[in-house]
Amino acid sequence: MKEGLNKVGRTLRTAGRVLSVKHTVLQSDYADMHQKELGENLRTMTNRNIAYVSISEWNRKVMRWIWICIGLVIFIEMLLFIFYQPVPECSKSQYWETFVLRPSVAIVLEALFMEVVFRLFGNLLGEHVVTVVFLLMQFLLLGTVVAVHSSVPYMCMILTYPVIFANVYREKIFRYIALVMCVMVYAAITYEVIPSTEFKPDNSREVYLVIFIGFTIVAFSFSKVLTSVVVNFEKENQKISEEKEKILEISQRDSMTGLYNHKLFYEKLDEELQRCDTEHHLSLVIIDIDNFKSINDTFGHATGDNVILKIVSIIRENMEESDIAARYGGEEFGLILVGKGEMEAFNIAERIRRSVEEATVEGVERKVTISLGMMEVRPKDKNGILLFKEVDAALYEAKQTGKNKTVCRGWKKGKDNAYSYRNFSS
Ligand code: GH3
Ligand code: MG
Ligand code: MG
Repeated sequence: MKEGLNKVGRTLRTAGRVLSVKHTVLQSDYADMHQKELGENLRTMTNRNIAYVSISEWNRKVMRWIWICIGLVIFIEMLLFIFYQPVPECSKSQYWETFVLRPSVAIVLEALFMEVVFRLFGNLLGEHVVTVVFLLMQFLLLGTVVAVHSSVPYMCMILTYPVIFANVYREKIFRYIALVMCVMVYAAITYEVIPSTEFKPDNSREVYLVIFIGFTIVAFSFSKVLTSVVVNFEKENQKISEEKEKILEISQRDSMTGLYNHKLFYEKLDEELQRCDTEHHLSLVIIDIDNFKSINDTFGHATGDNVILKIVSIIRENMEESDIAARYGGEEFGLILVGKGEMEAFNIAERIRRSVEEATVEGVERKVTISLGMMEVRPKDKNGILLFKEVDAALYEAKQTGKNKTVCRGWKKGKDNAYSYRNFSS
């Protein structure tokens, strides 16, 4: 899972880099605070090792659980001892020595060994070696219990615990090591390499009960671990998708005005051109602020920015939801008017032009005007760049013939299917 999350992290980082490069190219002068902030978020997110409990942390948890289990095992062995009814083959003191004292000392020593390895040599050996030692010691501990209770059939099933638990380390090598150890310890007990007790007391019912309770507790804890891992994973996944969405949004929009950017303008235009036919009208308008350099030079760049924002708000006021507006360049805007034919689009363009002319912007002691070039899309138009060139020519005409006007590249389709053109303007 860590690998998967890191992969997503890497993809996001790459996306962040690509975005910041694109953004610098488009708007180097007007650096975007928001994007920087987002980049920061992404960096922290990817560096944070999402939902990740380290191998050492797991080992610490395992160690804690082993001590708890040892405490329980000794306690239960004591209880069994208290209720033990001596038989001629095994006196009470023999029982104490075989079933309580020796195994308890053995498992405590084994756990102490683990503790020492973990605390004193943990850093030296590295978490992987420590984990292998941990797995081995878990099998010796359980092997001790199995060997002592060899009279209880299926007792060896408890050897599967560490195989199941090895999954928490998330590296499959540990699962395989645990599996091999499990089989080896089982074989060692079966073939008496690890000696099991000779005397088989008749307490299998009690031992069964203990095993059952033990198994249930372990299964319950493991399901708890699994749930928390899954919940964490889902939460982080959601965070990642939210961040991804933010990146996507930022990659599509101009940060200063919130309008679509140059790239999206062409994407949307291409989409709409595919949809456009004799039934579905579509018009394209491009807007350029008149004498903007002089506004900047006279009133300063910050005031120039306010002029842009004012014009954008006017554009928005005159748009419908289905229309698409983009900041095509620094002080140039593109409008895709969906479902609007020539005259309707021309009227909208004119409304925008007049509103800008009438508007006042704080700090600008002169009239701000814009020039517009526009055209209704012909059904044959499927190439956004070529179409844009024609509309740009109309804008050029508006600039050349006095500015503060809308020039429409008007066309008519003749009977012979040929187009005839006649530009008109406000
Ligand atoms: P024209 O009437 O022919 O359009 O003349 P103009 O002075 O407006 O010339 P042009 O359209 O080439 O203007 C581009 C200027 O716009 C240059 C640049 O300094 C300014 N500009 C571009 N983006 C921004 C921006 O985000 N903020 C500010 N303040 N100025 C910008
Ligand atoms: Mg310009
Ligand atoms: Mg201009």
